[in-house]
Amino acid sequence: SSSSNQPPLDTTRFIARHVAGLRRSGIRDFFELVAKTDGVISLGIGEPDFDTPEPIRNAVKTAMDTGKTHYTSNLGQPDLRKEISRYVEGYFHVPYSWEDEILVTVGVSEALDLALRALLNPGDKVLYHQPCYVSYAPTVELVHGVGVPVATSAAEQFSLDEPALRAAWQPGCKLLLLNLPCNPTGGVCSKEQLERIAKFAIEKDLIVISDEIYSELIFEGTHTSIASLPGMRERTLLLHGFSKAFAMTGFRLGYACGPAPLIEAMMKVHQYSMLCAPSISQEGALAALRLGDDATKFMRDRYRERRDLFVRRINAAGIKCHAPRGSFYAFPSIVSTGLDEGEFARRLLTEFKVAVVPGTAFGDAGKGHVRACFTANEQKLNAACDRIEQMLASLGRS
Ligand code: PLP
Repeated sequence: SSSSNQPPLDTTRFIARHVAGLRRSGIRDFFELVAKTDGVISLGIGEPDFDTPEPIRNAVKTAMDTGKTHYTSNLGQPDLRKEISRYVEGYFHVPYSWEDEILVTVGVSEALDLALRALLNPGDKVLYHQPCYVSYAPTVELVHGVGVPVATSAAEQFSLDEPALRAAWQPGCKLLLLNLPCNPTGGVCSKEQLERIAKFAIEKDLIVISDEIYSELIFEGTHTSIASLPGMRERTLLLHGFSKAFAMTGFRLGYACGPAPLIEAMMKVHQYSMLCAPSISQEGALAALRLGDDATKFMRDRYRERRDLFVRRINAAGIKCHAPRGSFYAFPSIVSTGLDEGEFARRLLTEFKVAVVPGTAFGDAGKGHVRACFTANEQKLNAACDRIEQMLASLGRS
């Protein structure tokens, strides 16, 4: 405050309407409460609990000591783009030219933001399945787009199929935003479902933004990218990154692959906003892709064990939860407890010191559910399940 007698300046009136109107993240509110509570076992944050593999850490140290601390090409360091092209072709079976079809970004977060900013005119509509990642609806809103959510349900293990999309579709839909495996539900689609979705996208002339950040975390079967299906490479932006599969959330590194004109449009925005992704993180990412898949496979195997433990125990306690086929999230129904998702999460946190996220943080379709991230180790997961059992016993319903 100033030393004069003027009333303090009300700076809130300078805030743009569309920003003032944004909801606060349901996760953020909740985590402020977590931070104030001692002894909490957190199943809240969607983060690997493993350290970043050592060769990746060493590559960053070397990068710092050998002067790789400058701006890189706006598109990203050429060696990294070449390695991404190789990795994506091997893993997703889609070829992309490192020269003009790959853009290295500040996480999948920036890639998503760029894609929406590059493609949406005000009022254009974006179809997306819900419950979904907390950023989707606000990011669409921030670029003056209109979200068109398509509800998925526990009865179908939160997979998506063409009839639901067709029923939700409206004139003005330009993009289809997919996240498979899905945060927060762990939902995936079969190849047949994806093929139907692809045909629908072609029929309705949609561009697909496919956020495949959890694609390495598939516990049964293999991952299929919609970009690999007939006619889809030319109308898909495939978004991927290093945060989840390589335990590199803090590196803030991801990428977009797609048709050159769309990558160029995203690049136009990126060159003025970010300039380039962090140089030392790019060196870490290069090392990650050169590691082979041992580290990723090791972590996936641990997550599978943790999933099995958590899903078995929580079902035994009387809370219905399907085993997610991908991602590291379980999305149990807490309806049988008689509490709503907000009350369930609040009481579990304040009385039993376990943090989960109310399902409605991921949209209305998350009602009656909570999200539990099973990246915590076995000992913590068991202790969390013990506490959940105690809570159910106290409710007299277990
Ligand atoms: N997309 C989804 C579906 C996510 O769950 C997350 C993080 O939780 C992100 C994107 C953000 O990823 P990044 O760390 O690459 O920005």
